[in-house]
Amino acid sequence: MTPITTFFRNLESKCCAACGQTMVEQAESYMTECFACQEKATHDAYLYYHTKK
Ligand SMILES: [Zn+2]
Repeated sequence: MTPITTFFRNLESKCCAACGQTMVEQAESYMTECFACQEKATHDAYLYYHTKK
């Protein structure tokens, strides 16, 4: 008999590594950040690349 708490703990383990928001729609994804944070990270990387001397 599997403890139900273990089941929910596994579900909750899939959260954004940046903001901690649960990523329900991306549960099957390999990504560790939600879409919003991925967009922000990509944008920041883009700015950094084009602003560095
Ligand atoms: Zn996030």
